[in-house]
Amino acid sequence: MPEGDTIHYAANRMRPLLEGRVPEAIRTPHARHRLDRWPERLGGRSVSSVDAYGKHLFLRFEGELTLHSHLRMTGSWGVYADGRRWRRSPGRAWLILRAPGHDVVQFDGPVLELLTESRTRFDQRLAALGPDVLAPEFDAERYLRRLREDDPTGVGDALLDQRTVAGIGNLWKAEACWQARLDPWRPLRQLSDVEALDLIDRVRPLMQESAVTGSQNRHKHVYDRAGMPCHRCGGRIRARGQGEDNRTTFWCPACQG
Ligand SMILES: [Zn+2]
Repeated sequence: MPEGDTIHYAANRMRPLLEGRVPEAIRTPHARHRLDRWPERLGGRSVSSVDAYGKHLFLRFEGELTLHSHLRMTGSWGVYADGRRWRRSPGRAWLILRAPGHDVVQFDGPVLELLTESRTRFDQRLAALGPDVLAPEFDAERYLRRLREDDPTGVGDALLDQRTVAGIGNLWKAEACWQARLDPWRPLRQLSDVEALDLIDRVRPLMQESAVTGSQNRHKHVYDRAGMPCHRCGGRIRARGQGEDNRTTFWCPACQG
């Protein structure tokens, strides 16, 4: 599941290959981008930075041109040394950046666009998002302020709102509530600031670890484990759709009170 940690992991892997360099080649095999002429528009320009913010990834080129990607549920990034087998078929590649000895590939879209706006406009766009859960310094004040402006059905739902905190998806939402022994269905108004911050304090290091290792599995206690016993109390994990988008929430009713 591509969440903030997945995107930061991808950025961490491609940064040393791309930053400060002109890509050896840029290809956009997908028909949707055939007329965009990105290889011509970006050709010869060096990559000034590779930035992840929440679930968004930005490849900034010199001349204020930025490739913006968001994977939603289906997309993925791959970084492949020459000779390594790609995890998805080349026909599903939307963007291929050639770096020394490697291909950096975005598969299956679904959001891939070239932004031509100034740095200021760009920063304003980001400001609409909540603080990045994986930022080196988490902006707790802004998180609490946005949280109190929110009107979701429950705590779990609030964590998914990218305007409140950016980067948490369905997996880490469920795991954050389990780590904090909090019922994801608890109404937001019954959540204290201390509890709201505790959720972030618990999930941040797990996501930071995953952003380095590329694996979310070590900390999966409730996500996708409906009907199985809770690792903490042995209770049975439950699953039910929550919020406007009816995203499945996993939790242990026995120890998340
Ligand atoms: Zn339990």
